[in-house]
Order: sequence, then structure tokens, then C-alpha cells
Amino acid sequence: MVVAAVHPPAARAATASRAGGASVRARVGIVTPMTPRAYGSRSALDRLAGEIGACRRCPRLVAWRERVARERRAAFRDQTYWGRPLPGFGDPRARILILGLAPAAHGGNRTGRVFTGDRSGDWLFASLWRTGLASQPISVDREDGLRLYGCWVAAAVRCPPPANRPLPAERDRCLPWTVSELSLLPTVRVVVCLGAFAWDAALRLRVLTGSAPLRPRPTFGHGVELDAPPWTLLGCFHPSQQNTFTGRLTPDMTDAVLARARALAGLP
Ligand code: SF4
Repeated sequence: MVVAAVHPPAARAATASRAGGASVRARVGIVTPMTPRAYGSRSALDRLAGEIGACRRCPRLVAWRERVARERRAAFRDQTYWGRPLPGFGDPRARILILGLAPAAHGGNRTGRVFTGDRSGDWLFASLWRTGLASQPISVDREDGLRLYGCWVAAAVRCPPPANRPLPAERDRCLPWTVSELSLLPTVRVVVCLGAFAWDAALRLRVLTGSAPLRPRPTFGHGVELDAPPWTLLGCFHPSQQNTFTGRLTPDMTDAVLARARALAGLP
């Protein structure tokens, strides 16, 4: 059974104005969303999510995430921030991992779901929807009904860092959480790296999961495709406002990478 996506009028209008809505879906060759299915490893992923959510390995990041959650941004003063690390989320039978840098201080760190509640997430989930990988184009909180099809979204570093810059030691302490998630997502074949930090993190994840390092070290670029067994890495500019406001990254560019990821992953 194919489940039709729910497109609230506001979201439909926003999507259409940004990227041409259905015409973009047609351009990237996607006609219908994938069929959502339930798989057996959800409970293990839920247990792991609980462990990740309790992590306090990085004193600097723990202090920062909790300070942001305490002080809050004026616009969100009436909300209770999550203020803890963020597990990934998505389809337990994912064939595509979408890897970001770290949660936004007032986005995921507020809502409790990665890329949810900030402009980067608005951009990413709209593209996932247009390419048939998400049930809806908007993502506002953990109860918004969003479902992902065939993909898993996670950040290389699970706590928001000051100025969006994790230290190398913080990255290295955190990557094992992604290794643990990947061990429960054995069907992942493609890693979409949102930005150079995620690209570098994916190369490190390969080594952490038993593959030999690639020499010379492959360089990140938008649209770069790298055969890096057991995965194919795909580079995509990060959907930060720095990239999207300047036109460095357009909706079509994002859609093209995600459509390519779908094809490489063998998704119908
Ligand atoms: Fe733990 Fe990662 Fe957060 Fe460090 S960044 S405290 S390792 S979840």
C-alpha cells in the first residue's frame, strides 16, 4: 500500500514557491513516495537512543547544551528545551544515511530531533519529501507525524557545539555513537554527507567500522560520489543559511543529490 503524503496548505505553498513542488519531484524522477514499513530493530534503536540521550562525555558540550536550554531564545521562551544529545531518527531499514554536523542550539537542541525546528531542517526535509524519502515537507517537533522512508538522519556530533564548531576530541568521542547506530542499520549503502565536516566524519566512520583508510584522502565537494566500501559517499553542501541564502545551494541541487542517493541505494 502506498501511503499518500499529507501536505498542509502552508507547507504546500512554501514548497511550491521554493522549488516548484511536484514539478521538482517529476524532474528528479520521483512520482510516488515509498511504502512505509515497520521493521524489527526499532526496539534496539530505541534502547540506543536512550543511551545516547544520557551521554555526558564532553564537558564543554554538556555545559553549552544545558546553558542554551536554560537561557533559551526569546522566541521560544515558553518552550522546554530538550537540552540533551540527539539520536538519529528515521527508517530502521534505511539504505541511506544522511549525516550532518551537529544539532542546532535552538533547533534540535530545543525540539529533541535532529534538524527539526530550524531553517536547515526546513530545507532538508522539504527536499526529502520532494524526493519521496519523507512523508511531509515540514518538521517542527517530535510529534509532527514526520516519517522517513528508506533513510536515517543523524549528526556526526550529537550535542550542539558553540559556534557550530566541535573540537576534534569531541568529534572522536561522539563518532562511536554513529558506529553503534550503523550496527543496527545494516542495510545502509549510501551516506549523504552534508558538508565537509560530515564527509570527514564518514571517512572516519569507515575506519572505525573496520575498513582501511583511503589514500590519498578524498576531498569533499558538492555532488562528489565516492565508492568507499561498504558505502558510497555522496557530497552535498550543508543546507545552512550561509549556503541557502547565498544561492550556493539551491533546492534543485539538494534534490539531485538525494535522487542520486535513492538510485545508488536501489530504492524503488
Ligand atoms: Fe556525548 Fe557526543 Fe554529546 Fe560528547 S557530543 S557529550 S560524546 S553525545
